[in-house]
Amino acid sequence: MSGTDTHSQEIRIIVIGAGMAGILTGIRLQQYGYHNYVIYEKSDRLGGTWRENTYPGLACDVPAHLYTYSFEPNPEWSSTFARGPEIQAYFERVAQKYHIIERIRFNEEIPYCAFEDGRWKVRTSTGREDEADVIIAATGVLHHPKIAELPGMDTFEGASFHSARWDHSVELEGKRVGVVGTGSTAIQITTALVDKVAHFDLFQRTAQWVMPIEDRPYTEEERAGFRADTRKVDALRTEIDRDFQGFANGVIDSDSPEMKAIEDACSANLDDNVRDPVLREKLRPNYRAGCKRLIFSSNFYDKIQHPNADVVTSGIRAVEPRGIRTEDGELHELDVLVLATGFQADAFIRPTTVLGRNGVNLDQVWADHPIAYLSISIPEFPNFFMLNGPNGPVGNFSLIQIAESQVSYVLQLIGQIRAGACREISASAKATADFEEARSAAAKKSIWATGCNSWYLDKHGVPASWPWTPSRFFEEMASPHLELFDQVG
Ligand code: NAP
Repeated sequence: MSGTDTHSQEIRIIVIGAGMAGILTGIRLQQYGYHNYVIYEKSDRLGGTWRENTYPGLACDVPAHLYTYSFEPNPEWSSTFARGPEIQAYFERVAQKYHIIERIRFNEEIPYCAFEDGRWKVRTSTGREDEADVIIAATGVLHHPKIAELPGMDTFEGASFHSARWDHSVELEGKRVGVVGTGSTAIQITTALVDKVAHFDLFQRTAQWVMPIEDRPYTEEERAGFRADTRKVDALRTEIDRDFQGFANGVIDSDSPEMKAIEDACSANLDDNVRDPVLREKLRPNYRAGCKRLIFSSNFYDKIQHPNADVVTSGIRAVEPRGIRTEDGELHELDVLVLATGFQADAFIRPTTVLGRNGVNLDQVWADHPIAYLSISIPEFPNFFMLNGPNGPVGNFSLIQIAESQVSYVLQLIGQIRAGACREISASAKATADFEEARSAAAKKSIWATGCNSWYLDKHGVPASWPWTPSRFFEEMASPHLELFDQVG
């Protein structure tokens, strides 16, 4: 893990983004003796997703002990599924502990980077110019809000905002609140708000399958047990991980027995827990469970049956000054309108301008859809690596586990430069094309391609995700096939 030889001291690395993956990268770079690095962060705080999302009910539906760095277990998680502020505090604590904070340049966005004369030239939003041998883009997946374009939106007289831009100055108590969308975000908001507001309307375009989970606080005794012996945390992680692998193995084969079990659990959840048959049928999706990213919730069906709540299934005709008019002619009066309408899932590092060798523009390379070899490296973009990049495992995985394995893979690629084997390294065009062909063929057999619309699908309707088993992913990440990379210099 050391290797502070002269050459590695000279390798300069720019990390973009101080979220979960950027902090992790900083820690690993230090551990591997790469001290000449900087992390640029566009905001004044670290935390990525957990900084940007502050909506009521924000939680991570990956179990807390799995959504944790492997090297930094957290015996203090307060419940089986951690809440947003607790996760944000965890990342801040880890960044302090590993002295990453000192390496972050806050309030400096990177709108431009170009590979010129064998180095990456970077311009930041403050006008600073910087240079590096290597860029690691830790810019997140679901980052740029997708604001639904509802006719008449600008006429609304109440407060309105996207779920990732929550306006905490708006009082909710005693108000009529409407939420557009039924993704994981909207469902979490629903469970938090229904019984705290005067009235709650959930504007549902598409019903969702809901997988029941056991979400409960850890007792002080359990936490003391984790504190006293972190092997207990490890054992719990292993157990949760096994369950997740079973789930992940199921979704890639729509005919698998695991998939059948997931579908049965979701159907039973709906049938057993929604009493009113009319509401039950409103909430019943007309596609297979798992086709859209599953909702994990212990109490959504309970909360949505509150007398305060309505599920509005008539389409939205327009927003008016006093609320939302639906296609059936009804006006749903609202004081607060929340757009939980998701994110631009294919943005990745964009809108940053990224120019590779000979000025090739990433926007052009990705004009059809984003592609990268193993979601990490792009031909003709030497020494430019992405974490949680295009077509990688997303969905119901712990993105921390994914990022950890990707960082160790990227460190092996940078190791080629450190060892003097080359100065520039990027996946070959053939390896990338072969990978993408195999990936998209396999993705078409997954549950995500069984006839629903979701942010997993690219514009051709092909799931933009890792379509094989998690073990295959981790095997691929164990060591790069260097013969599939162009190495120059
Ligand atoms: P999402 O899953 O993309 O859901 C967006 C919702 O908005 C959908 O219900 C969509 O309807 C609806 N919508 C979009 N445009 C609309 C329009 N013009 N009119 C009416 N409805 C419209 O977004 P999200 O809920 O923010 O979740 C995105 C992802 O973030 C999740 O899948 C998950 O990966 C991640 N997430 C994770 C957690 C966690 O706990 N780990 C929590 C929240 C989010 P249609 O379905 O009809 O398109």
